[in-house]
Amino acid sequence: MPMNLSKRILSIAPSSTFGMEAKAKEMRKAGIDIVSFTVGEPDFDTPDYIKDSAIDALKKGFTKYTPASGIDELKEAISSKFKRDNNLVYDKSEVIVSCGAKHSLYNIFQAICNEGDEVIIPAPYWVSYPEQVKMSGGIPIFIDADESLSFKITPELLEKKITSKTKALVMNSPSNPTGMVYDKEELKALAEIILKYDFWVISDEVYEKLIYNGKIHYSIASFSEQIKARTLVVNAVSKTYSMTGWRLGYAAGPKAIVKAMANFQSQVTSNPTSFVQKAAITAINGPEETINKMKNEFDKRRKYIVDRVNKINGLRCIMPNGAFYAFVNILELNTPEIRKKIESEIAQTNKNFSTLFSEYLLAKANVAVVPGVDFGSDLHIRLSYATSLENIKKGIDRIEAVINKLLL
Ligand code: PMP
Ligand code: GLU
Repeated sequence: MPMNLSKRILSIAPSSTFGMEAKAKEMRKAGIDIVSFTVGEPDFDTPDYIKDSAIDALKKGFTKYTPASGIDELKEAISSKFKRDNNLVYDKSEVIVSCGAKHSLYNIFQAICNEGDEVIIPAPYWVSYPEQVKMSGGIPIFIDADESLSFKITPELLEKKITSKTKALVMNSPSNPTGMVYDKEELKALAEIILKYDFWVISDEVYEKLIYNGKIHYSIASFSEQIKARTLVVNAVSKTYSMTGWRLGYAAGPKAIVKAMANFQSQVTSNPTSFVQKAAITAINGPEETINKMKNEFDKRRKYIVDRVNKINGLRCIMPNGAFYAFVNILELNTPEIRKKIESEIAQTNKNFSTLFSEYLLAKANVAVVPGVDFGSDLHIRLSYATSLENIKKGIDRIEAVINKLLL
């Protein structure tokens, strides 16, 4: 029987971050010693006091459905967090809790996109934005945020992409995959354009706490009541508290749209896991100490990995100021001779150089990375440094050896 899959589902690419990680895991299972720089999740365990609070909730029988958009107590904790960290005042009716930031983002695109609406996405971008926009009937419109601009868009670049169909702009600072962080003035200038043309801005702030070099995170929503009324802020406990597997994210914005998202969620997933909501309250109200410990460790790794990468012939990497990714430029390696050498050695051809090069690293160096093409730049590969310094050293040594051989 023919599969008859929908056109919509056939147009969606699988998540390559998870795809590369799965490949690495498979090879490891087969006994190969793989160093993985693929999936972006902190390698630290969830702090015990957060785990204990979930256990406590379970023991007390907090195991039933909750209101579909989350419990009031958690929404209140999230409102307090917005006030404390971002200087944003949201009533609990302006907050919705979902199964991860990925889910919050999907709710948003579903709530705002009509067929053919355009959503502007600065590239490089996190892999799921364009696919979620497409799944919601929207059309992703990309702006090239060039490396020479530290991977940031400018008001001029944004203005060029605005049409009568523009529905929203997606902002992600600190960024996955580049690690760049927008300054206050840069965000303010973008906010002016958004207000001038009057569309939504979706501000994905999941890496807000993982920020280095004395940089400060600003939420674009915090500059005025006008821009707040046009912003949907997205965040999660996933990266901040090392809780990726718990699946809890949240969004805040104008009441009408949050209500629409809640309606949608009530028909799709119902509530995020009951006892995870209790643990999220403990996490959000808890001490910053655990975050800072993790952050200091990431900071050491960040400096080490970028320094090592920049000493390898053919690779270049600008210093990221946030998140836990190094977005490494491989342009100099993309020559006809090197391509030919790679293709003959691993018996593969691929029109995307970053995919070909990533396959090569996996086969020859036993190092897994994510091809930049999946983030909108075929000139790069992404290395997540959310792994031990020891692993980073081992992986970079291997990459260096393989590239030196390629360049012989
Ligand atoms: N936004 C960005 C930029 C991310 O890197 C991730 C990581 N998966 C998410 C959203 C989704 O986070 P969550 O695990 O909370 O769904
Ligand atoms: N955000 C992480 C990454 O980019 C997790 C995987 C995903 O959700 O795509 O690797």
